[in-house]
Amino acid sequence: MLGLLSWVAGCSPTPPPTYRIGFSQSVSSGDWRQAMLAGMQRELAFHPEIQFMVRDAQSNSRQQQQQIHDLLDAGADVLIVAPNEPQALSASVEEAYRRGVPVILLDQRTNSSHYAAYVGGDNNGAGATAARYAAQLLRQQGGVIEITGTPSSVARERHQGFTQALQAYPRMRVVGTIVGNWSATSPQPALTKLLQKHPETQLIFAHSDLMAQGAYAVCQRLGREDVRIIGIDGLAGKGNGLEMVQQGRSTASLFYSPGGEEAIRVALKILQHQAYERENILGTIVIDSTNVLTLQQQAAKLASQQAGIEQQQHLLRTLQATFASQRTVLYGLLVTLAAALGLGASAWRAARNNRRTNQELARQNAANDAINQELVRQNEANDAINRQLSTQNEEIRAQRNQLAALAEQARVETEAKLRFFTNFSHELRTPLTLIMGPVEEMLTGRNSTALLPTQRHDLGLIRRSTQRLLQLVNQLLDFRKIEVGKMAVQARPDDLVAFVRELVEAFEPAARVQQVVLAFQPMEPALPAWLDRNVLDKVFLNLLSNALKYTPAGGQITVSVQATSEARSLQVQVTDTGRGIRPQDSPHIFEWFYQGEQPATGKGSGMGLALAQGLVRLHQGQLTVNSQLGQGSTFTVTLPQELPAELHSPDAAEPLNFSVDEPLALPTTEADVPPAEAEALVLVIEDNADVNEFVARKLRPHFRVQSAADGKAGLQLALELIPDLIVCDVMMPGLSGLEVVARLRADWRTSHVPVIFLTARNAPEQQVEGVQAGADVYLTKPFNPAFLLESVRTLLANRARQREHLSRQLLTLPEPAETPNPDQAFITALTAQVEADLTRTDLTVEELAHVLGFSRMQLYRKVKAVLGTSITDFIQNVRLKKACELLRAEKLSVTAVAYEVGYASHSYFSNSFKARYGMAPSEFRARHQAGVS
Ligand code: ADP
Repeated sequence: MLGLLSWVAGCSPTPPPTYRIGFSQSVSSGDWRQAMLAGMQRELAFHPEIQFMVRDAQSNSRQQQQQIHDLLDAGADVLIVAPNEPQALSASVEEAYRRGVPVILLDQRTNSSHYAAYVGGDNNGAGATAARYAAQLLRQQGGVIEITGTPSSVARERHQGFTQALQAYPRMRVVGTIVGNWSATSPQPALTKLLQKHPETQLIFAHSDLMAQGAYAVCQRLGREDVRIIGIDGLAGKGNGLEMVQQGRSTASLFYSPGGEEAIRVALKILQHQAYERENILGTIVIDSTNVLTLQQQAAKLASQQAGIEQQQHLLRTLQATFASQRTVLYGLLVTLAAALGLGASAWRAARNNRRTNQELARQNAANDAINQELVRQNEANDAINRQLSTQNEEIRAQRNQLAALAEQARVETEAKLRFFTNFSHELRTPLTLIMGPVEEMLTGRNSTALLPTQRHDLGLIRRSTQRLLQLVNQLLDFRKIEVGKMAVQARPDDLVAFVRELVEAFEPAARVQQVVLAFQPMEPALPAWLDRNVLDKVFLNLLSNALKYTPAGGQITVSVQATSEARSLQVQVTDTGRGIRPQDSPHIFEWFYQGEQPATGKGSGMGLALAQGLVRLHQGQLTVNSQLGQGSTFTVTLPQELPAELHSPDAAEPLNFSVDEPLALPTTEADVPPAEAEALVLVIEDNADVNEFVARKLRPHFRVQSAADGKAGLQLALELIPDLIVCDVMMPGLSGLEVVARLRADWRTSHVPVIFLTARNAPEQQVEGVQAGADVYLTKPFNPAFLLESVRTLLANRARQREHLSRQLLTLPEPAETPNPDQAFITALTAQVEADLTRTDLTVEELAHVLGFSRMQLYRKVKAVLGTSITDFIQNVRLKKACELLRAEKLSVTAVAYEVGYASHSYFSNSFKARYGMAPSEFRARHQAGVS
């Protein structure tokens, strides 16, 4: 198909023009000019590849210049110029030369030498030929008239040739020369006159056949048909030279070729890079009666040939047009054919595919039918299953509802049981405590030495069992408290290291008995933190007792305390080398009442860890375990160093490690109430660990309790903590109880602390000794725990009363009693110290404590214990009391009084005064004046 298309394309009969020849003609009118153009076209008829561009300047040189320029722009490869005026066109010829386009000058030259070729007749020769022919006609004798053309090189050369050649014939004489303008009529008037004047004239030579025609008419008119006429041009056609000669109107015409064919031939040679003549001078032929017929026939033949050529060219053009349109149709047909073939092919393919698809579809339809049948079957089966499922769902829903109802019922029942259990536990605690007292008394009391070993063993069993029962009951109660959200954390600034150390030490005897090494490894000497000892006690006691319970003899328990890398949290780890926890138990050991593997000792309730975790969470911490069966376990308690204010104990306003000084002038807004019983701190100093623990345990449910193992440690702790009460054994290694009390009393910081003596000795003199040393109560072992508890309460109440009394004394302004007790003495000294610095607004508690030999905390606790107020309040009291004095004295203005007693601003003074005495300072002064007068 493609081959066919390219074959059609290859048949094109009109190759594109390869050359362009431009022809600038001075003028196109006139036969001679027409003959020039016709000659060119005749020659070009053999060269259809040439594009021929013709411009007619209509005898206007300016126009010819422009046309030459246009032809150059139009891309002429060769330019043929027939100049209108030689001088005017030199520049245009030069331009073509500059643009590389060869110029062929036709018929006339210009002033420029930059032309490629010249084609033109020999005008001089034509003139000479005319002269020689005339001499021959007239037998070298006779008068001659010459009619020239418009003065130009043509006319001039023809004239010269004629004149010169005539000189060879002395008897030939030119009677006159007329200047015409190439037209027939132009010479007629002058010629008429000249002929009449010179009747001897025998011949007229005209530079053109046209002027010869005019001359012939003059001769006819004058009856001078005898005069011979010679013209130039010799052209065929109506009225032209050939016809004139043939009809006898002129004797001869000189054929002067217009040069059209020659110019084209030269142009072709130039274009085809063939050798060519630069100067192409065309010859002249004489036409007279001897050859005119031949020449006429030739001209006619030429003309008919030309017509034939033109006809053929016309035919060719028609054929070309037809061919072109047919070719277009053929292209269209071919394209349509190609498209049809393509469509046919695809249609055939589509049909084939359709056939296959249909077959496939048929097969698939069959398969689909099978599948559909199967689906229908399955749907039916599904429906059956769905029906079954919905029935089952309903059943499940019903069961779930039932379960929910059961769960709710169980919850209500459990709640009731727990309530009962809790109440029951409460009831159990009192008889258990009552059993513990006498048993304790029997084991540690005066007659304990008289016990038989079996009795001691049995009593020990009773004690342990009772302890265990009590512990369980307490745990249950704690559990209940956590459950119902009644367990509250009341944290105080404390030292975690010291706290854990005490607990570990309490376990040492038991560890020794069990032959387990108990190591305490604090990473820091102290770690300050907010702790609720009552809460954390139970946590660590549980972890330690578990460790001991599940670690066989020869094992080790390590307790470490450290600050974690995470900001502001602390860790206590209890690690044992015991039996470890089975992986399946690990996730459950913190659940209430969960007991994994049966405990080795057979004891346990499954409550310890659950309680411990509950308590640690209350304390905003975490309890985790890491254990390897057979290798041991590590329980980790992580606690925040600080706790939110709502978990702070109400009396924890003064932290242990004070560092910021607080100006004294600031009033305290907190209500200064005496410490509640539960917040009272009791220090137990007892070297017998069992007794120490017993006493501590007795008191712990009611007070905060700290223990010391001997007199020295006790004294140190007393000074550190300034407890609200001390229970102290008398007989101790190192510092005895008596010495401890004596030192306590001698020290202002502790002189106020009530002391209960415990001793096995009950000699009255010893009691006296004790009381003399400064003990407030003397209890002999075995003592009744209830009585001990009562004694502690009584003493604390007494302290409170004393406090009230003292504060009232201070408030109601009378001077301290004449015979001061130690408290009053301390208050007097403190007052004196404050008064000494009364005008200072920047006095700090720290400074004041330092002067008195106290730490800030000691001073705080001392003042609180003695007066029940904070030290800052006390100082404010002193200031205001002094202010009253000064106001009464009436020497100073109120503002001056304010400054005098250490108030930086009048309004602050006024407000404080009003808050204390219920009236403004000015009112106080006014009333006093009224009272006085
Ligand atoms: P129990 O009263 O049974 O000790 P706990 O709540 O204290 O109850 O502990 C729950 C269970 O966790 C225990 O029964 C024991 O199986 C396991 N367990 C607790 N502490 C340890 C430990 N240190 N070593 C091995 N097992 C332990």
